[in-house]
Amino acid sequence: MSASTETGPTNLLGLTRPQLEEYIAGLGSKPFRARQLMNWIYKRGEGRIGEMTDLAKEFRAQLAQCAEVRVPRIADLQLSADGTRKWKLEADASQAFEMVYIPEPGRGTLCISSQVGCALDCSFCSTAQQGFNRNLTTGEIIGQVWLAARELQAAVGAGPSDDAEVDTDAAAQVITPLSGRIISNVVFMGMGEPLANFRNVVPALSILLDDFGFDLSRRRVTLSTSGLVPQMYKLAEESNVALAVSLHAPNDALRNELVPINRKHPIRELLAACWHYLDEQNGRSVTFEYVMLDGVNDSPGQARELVRLLRGHPAKLNLIPFNPFPGTRYQRSPMPVIQRFRDELIRGGVLATIRRTRGDDIDAACGQLAGKVIDRTTVRLGNKTIGLMVETT
Ligand code: SAH
Repeated sequence: MSASTETGPTNLLGLTRPQLEEYIAGLGSKPFRARQLMNWIYKRGEGRIGEMTDLAKEFRAQLAQCAEVRVPRIADLQLSADGTRKWKLEADASQAFEMVYIPEPGRGTLCISSQVGCALDCSFCSTAQQGFNRNLTTGEIIGQVWLAARELQAAVGAGPSDDAEVDTDAAAQVITPLSGRIISNVVFMGMGEPLANFRNVVPALSILLDDFGFDLSRRRVTLSTSGLVPQMYKLAEESNVALAVSLHAPNDALRNELVPINRKHPIRELLAACWHYLDEQNGRSVTFEYVMLDGVNDSPGQARELVRLLRGHPAKLNLIPFNPFPGTRYQRSPMPVIQRFRDELIRGGVLATIRRTRGDDIDAACGQLAGKVIDRTTVRLGNKTIGLMVETT
């Protein structure tokens, strides 16, 4: 069973297909009921067991006694002028986390959280300023995708399998047309370090990819990590989703400062883990995220250092203009500096793109997700003792 801090009825959203089959068998029913259930939950977006009409009445009644489809409560929704939506979700009465939907022509990306807060203490990230509270359960992680799909469908008035072009509501700037899917991509780039919540994130990945679950292609699900090297090796054994890695610096001295986990797992080890992941999973390339901080990591010399690290490897660099937040000591590199940095990389033979900032008017852009976190971390990863909050089993 998936690890859970939840109590009460079993949350069906937290169970992978084999777990659901086992659960159903435990109730004395046939395992094929699991597929029927998943069909209702994921394909038809039905959360009420009583409405799953092709299941036997007695079975429905029995199931409703002990299980439910439980999603986080929405505390707030903000709409950006560019169509991006940010939901604040309740983890419990005093804790919140966030998810963001980013519509683009031909695709809709949902950016989800894996933890309430984060313990990794990256110096340029506003989530880090909030500290760490707890891991999200598998049900809460999957619950974000299920809930967003339902909310977005309600917003555009389209059925889950509606292939028709979706009309964009000019006022609400809802959604651009997609090939039948409002959510075509899911990225673990919200709050938290997904690999520090390995045991709840891996089952969530399998539900996202399962034909009877969200049925997303492995290339449309991206896990982003700050570089928990041992967990990257474990991930290579258990999943095959696309990998993004927060690099942010071309050498250890600077990366130690920006991404403190680097003191434990330096760049050389990190890159070895990336290439291993691609080999094991027959992946195409790793996307390296690189936040552009004015005067810190954005010089042409640093671009050439990156070229020396990455040239000849299956790597793409995604340059992210820094998104400021209150109290930060950093500033965004000016656009001409970012463009020059990109050009230097490309000249050196490294693929590089500049990420378009989305939703910054509602603090929904990368690194701006803060939720509402009461920090209960006693040892933060910026200190000498690293690894305490990192759960591996
Ligand atoms: N913890 C994971 C998942 C977060 S993904 C990770 O570190 O990869 C969010 C991405 O946005 C990461 O690359 C993160 O480093 C980057 N980011 C964080 N704060 C930012 C900010 N203020 N501006 C731009 N990007 C930021």
